[in-house]
Amino acid sequence: MNGSLSDEILGGNIRAAARLMRLIDDGAPAARDALAQLFPHTGGAYILGVTGNPGSGKSTLVNRLIAQFRDRGDTVGCIAVDPTSPFSGGAILGDRVRMQDHAGDDGVFIRSVATRGHMGGLSRSTPAMVQVMDAMSYDVIIIETVGVGQDEVEIVRLADTSLVVLVPGLGDDIQADKAGLMEIADVFVLNKCDLPGSDRLRREIQTMLALHNQVQNGDDRHRRPPIVSTSATDGEGVDELLETIAQRRRDFEDADDPEMISRRRSAHLIRAIARTELDSRFEELGQSTRFDELVDHVVDGTVDPYTAADQFARWMTE
Ligand code: GDP
Repeated sequence: MNGSLSDEILGGNIRAAARLMRLIDDGAPAARDALAQLFPHTGGAYILGVTGNPGSGKSTLVNRLIAQFRDRGDTVGCIAVDPTSPFSGGAILGDRVRMQDHAGDDGVFIRSVATRGHMGGLSRSTPAMVQVMDAMSYDVIIIETVGVGQDEVEIVRLADTSLVVLVPGLGDDIQADKAGLMEIADVFVLNKCDLPGSDRLRREIQTMLALHNQVQNGDDRHRRPPIVSTSATDGEGVDELLETIAQRRRDFEDADDPEMISRRRSAHLIRAIARTELDSRFEELGQSTRFDELVDHVVDGTVDPYTAADQFARWMTE
């Protein structure tokens, strides 16, 4: 049965892909088998990460990027990772807006991943979703995430190129997130360049990059992500952004040999899958009767917490 699900997906059946994505969301074991069958057909997509605070204009920008990629003849898969807010239900709303823009275009597949707030929520399904779209032969896959939590850094590692979207008027946030941003940004996008404060933001980032490089390697030419100003609403700078991404892709392909890229990706994937499995095992054990008994022993003083934790760790690998 799973053989046919993956065959249907490889044949371009969108409904089958949506079905597998639901299985992935539910953590169903059948998803794992189908994903394993799809794996040999992955590796062809160019993966673009887009990270930024809520309201920075990511969705608007991603819509522009999708349109531009389509103009160039590329098919696009898009995964919006949304920490679902109980107030806005943002994932669904954002999805609907996007769907409207690209409705009826077979070359665009958009999917939201709600994080549901549980441990590993973000990292759990996103790599699998990327894999499904990759196997379906989309040329470009865009992963859109909010903020820069640890989970998100993990997701961004899936990307070949990561854009960090900043907007004027968030100087303090930049300071606070400095380390995280430096770690993930391949390109800084200064969106809303039509608003005041954009030049100042550019200078702040340049200073931040120079300082960071001095601290890291004493050589400020070492790593200097390009900075591109855009206005996603009127489309300004989007061409330049596309060109910057394309240039990065060329540089990357010239510099890295394919085997190394493939090794790096495989290593990341193995870690992500193993972490997902360990996470769910961890949660499952934490709710088991034998865990309750272990707690009883620690409470009544017959077992110390370190010994109890050792025991717990042994259960993890049973
Ligand atoms: P997201 O939450 O990061 O996905 O941000 P959205 O794409 O939903 O945009 C948030 C708001 O900012 C919307 O009202 C957009 O119309 C507006 N916006 C997006 N890009 C720009 C821009 O370049 N300039 C201006 N002035 N507004 C923008």
